[in-house]
Amino acid sequence: MTYPWHSVAFDAVLARAGRLPHALLLRGREGIGKLAFAEALARALLCENRRPGKRACGRCAGCTWMEQGSHPDFRRLEPEAHAEPGEAEEGSDRKPSSQISVDQVRSLTGFINVSSHRGGAKVVLIHPAETLNVNAANALLKNLEEPPPQTCFLLVAHRWHQLLPTIRSRCEQVVLTPPARDAARGWLAEQKLRDADLALAHAGGAPLLAQAFDEEFWRQREAFFSTITRPGFDALASAEQLRETPPRLVLGWLQKWAFDLVSHKVAGRVRYNPDYSDAIAATAQRLGLIGALRFQRQMVRLQRIVSHPLNARLFLEHLLIEYGALLRQDAGAQAA
Ligand SMILES: [Zn+2]
Repeated sequence: MTYPWHSVAFDAVLARAGRLPHALLLRGREGIGKLAFAEALARALLCENRRPGKRACGRCAGCTWMEQGSHPDFRRLEPEAHAEPGEAEEGSDRKPSSQISVDQVRSLTGFINVSSHRGGAKVVLIHPAETLNVNAANALLKNLEEPPPQTCFLLVAHRWHQLLPTIRSRCEQVVLTPPARDAARGWLAEQKLRDADLALAHAGGAPLLAQAFDEEFWRQREAFFSTITRPGFDALASAEQLRETPPRLVLGWLQKWAFDLVSHKVAGRVRYNPDYSDAIAATAQRLGLIGALRFQRQMVRLQRIVSHPLNARLFLEHLLIEYGALLRQDAGAQAA
């Protein structure tokens, strides 16, 4: 199922089934339903009973296999860390990888070089495509350069700019957009989400992200904001308090906090953290714009390495030390 806000885009792609390029890059913000779009497209391409311009029938052999996750003409590449529990290697203490490895891409060789089992299309879904490591991306590139017949690659990415330019240029890009605010609120209300407005703001308008924030997330976020807004903020003491919090979350919060500080300075508005707008206003007042902008860019850059930091604790300390430096540096500059 695609989400209602993607129906028009989905039907437009479906109308071209049979004439689609061999690789599509579905890109757009995180948490808006790109994966559901790609899965629905894969099902439609593999349906054996589909009428032109229509979606998968849901009843034929192809649809049944897709439903059971066992279609012989379908492959899905994703990092081990994304796999369903139970699919990961049993009895291994190794941390599941957050990248798609070259071995996973090479394992496609047999699949794409033989003709399809059902005489129709073969589909490879790669998600999130930005987690292909360099070797994996280069191995995939060979397949995209010499596209095997009847094979359709569906790449899904929200950090699509991290993909090799050579991969991007060999895909037709389909940009998927988030729903309008009212549509997102309506949908979240149907899902019975508590505090939908705050969740949607914090998710930057991405409804699936908003829906995924659970009690634990809100509890950790509150603990985080209470430490960074404390008078006399101490980076190392904060790192100690937040030692159980995944660095990925801390970086995400700091990035949104920084965005709000800049936005408040420039436009008097807060986007992601409306529940902390007073604290943001007070902090923004102490800061210079240039320092806040520099800090925001730094947080964006660190997103590249947050999924594989060498040492999670050091990474966390680094983030908080940088935030402490921002507070001090600008306080000094303002006083001068
Ligand atoms: Zn079907």
